[in-house]
Amino acid sequence: MTSPVGVPAPSDLAARLSAIDERIAEAARAAGRSPAEITRIVVTKFHPASLVRDLHALGVREVGENRQQELSAKVDELRELDLRWHFIGQGQTNKAGAIRRSADVVHSVDRERFADALHRAGADGDDVLDVLVQVNLTEDPARGGVAPSEAAALAEHVLALPSLRLRGVMAVAPLEEEPAAAFARLRVVSESVRSLEPDATWISAGMTGDFVEAIAIGATHLRIGSAITGPRPDRG
Ligand SMILES: *Cc1c(COP(=O)(O)O)cnc(C)c1O
Repeated sequence: MTSPVGVPAPSDLAARLSAIDERIAEAARAAGRSPAEITRIVVTKFHPASLVRDLHALGVREVGENRQQELSAKVDELRELDLRWHFIGQGQTNKAGAIRRSADVVHSVDRERFADALHRAGADGDDVLDVLVQVNLTEDPARGGVAPSEAAALAEHVLALPSLRLRGVMAVAPLEEEPAAAFARLRVVSESVRSLEPDATWISAGMTGDFVEAIAIGATHLRIGSAITGPRPDRG
């Protein structure tokens, strides 16, 4: 699953990391883009903090987590490391304060209430939190993200909250559709958000199975887990 057919799976973290970076660079060149404009976030959810430490030793600085408790625990344990923590999971409004204390970037702002809670949690300080509006590319309203037709309105709401800085959009490709077609819709949403805020240029898209398609539509931030970390341990 993590390697093209016929290519042996690299056996260790360093080899997997460099193999992915080569594939990212190749996909960027194929799309006429510079690999330097793409940030590779390693998703470390379900793995122990020791794996994040190993990744840091290999030069990784951008890491992603999808659960607040796990994020907060790892941030506490690894406080001495210069890491940038990306929160990529569904955010509960009552956890907004804890998320804000631990995350450097929140990719999953999908409703006004969550944006408001993140803003209130930081309104007393000087810090500005980087956030992305998450867009739901499926027809299922239960999936994370705001409908594409409502993304601009949510972006405007975020732009009115001074302790948040809107950086762009994020999405997960649906399972039941070609990722290229779904990401093309995300690209359109990104353009509408950029017409409201020219600095909101980030497009967070692309995981282990679809980062090549994401790079082709202009993704600036890839969230790659298992192709780098190996399979996730079961969480009982
Ligand atoms: C787990 C996760 C990823 C990484 O998935 P892989 O397929 O392991 O690369 C990316 N984005 C989100 C939102 C995730 O929850």
